[in-house]
Amino acid sequence: MIIKLKNTASEEQVSKLKNKLLNQGFELHESIGESTHILGVIGDTSGFDINSLYAYEFIDTVLRVQEPFKKVNRKFKPDDTIVNVSGIEVGGKNIVIMGGPCAVESEDQIDEITPLVKAAGAKILRGGAYKPRTSPYSFQGLGLEGLDILERAKIKYNIPIVSEIMSVDELPYFIEKVDLIQVGARNMQNFNLLKELGKTNKPILLKRGLASTIEEWLMSAEYILAGGNSNVILCERGIRTYETSTRSTLDISSVAVLKKLTHLPVVVDPSHAAGRWEYVESLSRAAIAAGADGLIIEVHQTPELALSDGQQSLKPVRFKNLVDSCKKIANAIDRTLE
Ligand code: PEP
Ligand code: MN
Repeated sequence: MIIKLKNTASEEQVSKLKNKLLNQGFELHESIGESTHILGVIGDTSGFDINSLYAYEFIDTVLRVQEPFKKVNRKFKPDDTIVNVSGIEVGGKNIVIMGGPCAVESEDQIDEITPLVKAAGAKILRGGAYKPRTSPYSFQGLGLEGLDILERAKIKYNIPIVSEIMSVDELPYFIEKVDLIQVGARNMQNFNLLKELGKTNKPILLKRGLASTIEEWLMSAEYILAGGNSNVILCERGIRTYETSTRSTLDISSVAVLKKLTHLPVVVDPSHAAGRWEYVESLSRAAIAAGADGLIIEVHQTPELALSDGQQSLKPVRFKNLVDSCKKIANAIDRTLE
């Protein structure tokens, strides 16, 4: 249930109401925006008589929230959330590009690619150290050594890093070294992992599950917010459909739907959706046009030699062209890409 308060509500009035609701066992989520003051009431409100609240003259409207997701719901917080990733704001007017290889392969590889993606316009470096591979015989990632390589690049080139966590056991390393913790598609419903991430204050990049509905995805985000961490960025990365000409089908509509349903920032990963480098630029442009707050793109200096996802990785020069072309789309919709 949400209670919209009038601008004239005094602090004392609001605090009395809050105490009353807390005493009845409800959890409260308060959101004070530029022109809105909302109290989100979480708990079983089915027996609650909404009309009785209109006796308070400082209450404007009371609404029942039908959706099962509450804290991520835009009805609870109408203003966009901006997630600060070590100084880079995701979710504001500026569109943020993240780029780098699928997997961290060696110190030299990261040392060479980081200045190239940064010069092309990437504000966050991506690289997988723990890799969720479909085959147990494929390269599984360098693990902790990979995180160390990324951390050295972050310091040398002054760029935040995003990397995927696969297990709760790795969390201490990620808290220490990584700026933005990625939860991959295969772990979107690893609820124990989500609960632990909710106890941190680290920014989280929550990818959409391979066959998850938007509601299931938002419920996963709700786990993290319910734990107390509201620094969540959603990442659309394509879903499984009957179409086989791309690896997954990029669900561009999810960007529009999420912008309505939630206040959380939304970024798009066209690389894993397309599965082929030729399609990555046009999907990126479509994502920006649809309202995405950023992109995460796979880039490799020699895709034909990549240990993971070479077929969908862009060479640095193509990545630069992509960023330049996305700048034009950003300008056309009154956003910036700097
Ligand atoms: C990745 O980002 O390298 C990755 C494995 O992505 P996803 O979880 O979307 O498949
Ligand atoms: Mn990949």
